[in-house]
Amino acid sequence: MSDKVHNKDNRIIETTLNNMYDAGKRPPERIFWFLVVAYLITNVVVSSTATSGGTISFGEHSIQVYTFAGVFSSISNMCVIFMSVYYGKKGYWSGLTLLLIQLPLVLLSIIKGHNLNSIPGVFGSLLTMTAITFVYFNGKKIDNYQKKLRDVAVTDILTGIPNGFACDELVNTLTRRNEPFANVTINLNAFKSINDTMGFDAGNQILMDTAYRLKSVAESGETGTFDFVGRTSGDEFSLIIRGYKTPDELYKVIQIYDEAINKQYTVLDCDLFVSASFGYALYPEDGDTLDSVISHSNIAMNEVKRKNNGNHILRYTEDLNQNKKLIEMESKIRSAIDNDRVFFMLQPQFDMEHRLRGFEALARIKDKDGTIINPGDFIPVAEKVGLIDKIDGIIYKKAGGFIGEHIKKTGSKVTLSINVSVMHLMKKDFIDEISSLLRTTGIPADQLEVEITESVMIESLEKAMDRISTLHMMGIKIAIDDFGTGFSSLSYLSEFPANLLKIDKAFIDKLLTGETSKQYVAGIISLGHTMGFDVISEGVEEDEQLEVLQRIGCNYIQGFIWGRPLLPEDAEKLITD
Ligand code: C2E
Ligand code: CA
Ligand code: CA
Repeated sequence: MSDKVHNKDNRIIETTLNNMYDAGKRPPERIFWFLVVAYLITNVVVSSTATSGGTISFGEHSIQVYTFAGVFSSISNMCVIFMSVYYGKKGYWSGLTLLLIQLPLVLLSIIKGHNLNSIPGVFGSLLTMTAITFVYFNGKKIDNYQKKLRDVAVTDILTGIPNGFACDELVNTLTRRNEPFANVTINLNAFKSINDTMGFDAGNQILMDTAYRLKSVAESGETGTFDFVGRTSGDEFSLIIRGYKTPDELYKVIQIYDEAINKQYTVLDCDLFVSASFGYALYPEDGDTLDSVISHSNIAMNEVKRKNNGNHILRYTEDLNQNKKLIEMESKIRSAIDNDRVFFMLQPQFDMEHRLRGFEALARIKDKDGTIINPGDFIPVAEKVGLIDKIDGIIYKKAGGFIGEHIKKTGSKVTLSINVSVMHLMKKDFIDEISSLLRTTGIPADQLEVEITESVMIESLEKAMDRISTLHMMGIKIAIDDFGTGFSSLSYLSEFPANLLKIDKAFIDKLLTGETSKQYVAGIISLGHTMGFDVISEGVEEDEQLEVLQRIGCNYIQGFIWGRPLLPEDAEKLITD
């Protein structure tokens, strides 16, 4: 069973390579038969013209009919040449056979019929035979050479098993044909240390042994499935498995390969044990394209390495991808922190008469390649991996330093609003951090505002309340951010020592869709006022929204209509104007 499969797989790869080299492509079969028929007809014409004593008149000239025999003889020889050039072995042997049948007939007509006109035709045929024989055998030499090249292109030189290109081709063909399969990525564990401690020869020996073991399992048929093994790079191998009935069965098949690798190796007279990490993804369930199925099995393999908990085999799941994105983003954040690529922008806030109230500091990260990453992408990750306090700290220092400097110079009354994540707020030295911020920047406490999201009231109200009260007592302003998205109860809200309520953009977006939405926002505004808070609407973009908000008593707005987040130098222009 397995042999049959291997031949089939090799044929798939062979066909691809043939297509790449443009080899094996022939003109259609009917042209071959056309050449055969043309050959036969021209020969009949040759023999009847060669023996004819007649003449044909062209105006004043008359031409002997037998002189046309040479023309037709050349055409028939050309047919044979075309056959052997374009139809390989079949064309050559057919052409040769036709010539060999024709030759004795011509000789017979010369000897018995004393038809001397046919003598040049005999030489023509002999010449054609020589020419096609030369072309055919030379072409065969080139074909063999090309075949060798093709073999090299799909074979891994070190181990002799198929290489990454061959694996990709097989996966590509299977996905094109919609044939289910599992792609398994196998990576040896601690291979680098074998190379480092025992040398490259030992490393190579391990790779060759591993390839041999994997190949032996695949070819033995003991797995009961159709398996194809290749080496894709360094210490990485690929396994393409077809014909399993259930995921459990597939898992058991992969275990057989795992066990094969786990057996003892003997290298340079040393006995050692090697293990490998197996990650796999199923087509089409876990990835429905060539790229996704391969990258997903790589992700699963990397997860095995990362966890390193003794479990060698893992199937790809969606959350691994999330994990991968999270890890990537985490490293971007770390690199930005280490390389001073965290910066701030300032979005202006205005009262309803368009007078500047202050700015909200918004964090940005510049990636290595210079692209800007928005907080929507990195803040949730920074919160998850415990880096948010670092980011906040940088923004506080940079934006605080900038606004503090400005206040010192101009005595301006602008407010600086800074965001704090719940996790950061809960850190035991948060209050110290803010006190020192006020000290170092010289911003008066009542010109600093801390924005805390409404969700804090649900998550950890008791502890948070303590911190918030302290800030409030220090004279710092408190804003309840994203108001309306959480479910804070009215009783908590009334005790909350806030100054400002920020209505979430989602409500402003819906403001013009109907009377109910308008009344809802009006309700929030009057509730805020009842509690003694000012109210600011976030995300105001249109004139009509502004008009409605003015009418229903909103105090401030922050939105693209009057100001997008600005670079500090642009914000400064806005203050001094
Ligand atoms: P947020 O605190 O609600 O900030 C307002 C967000 O709304 C900002 O997005 C701002 O650019 C955007 N915005 C303001 N007006 C408009 C408008 O008219 N139209 C539209 N389409 N958007 C508008 P940004 O800067 O992407 O910030 C997203 C969130 O990231 C912030 O929401 C905040 O929760 C968080 N964040 C930003 N900087 C920091 C920071 O330094 N520390 C912490 N902990 N969180 C931050
Ligand atoms: Ca905010
Ligand atoms: Ca907000």
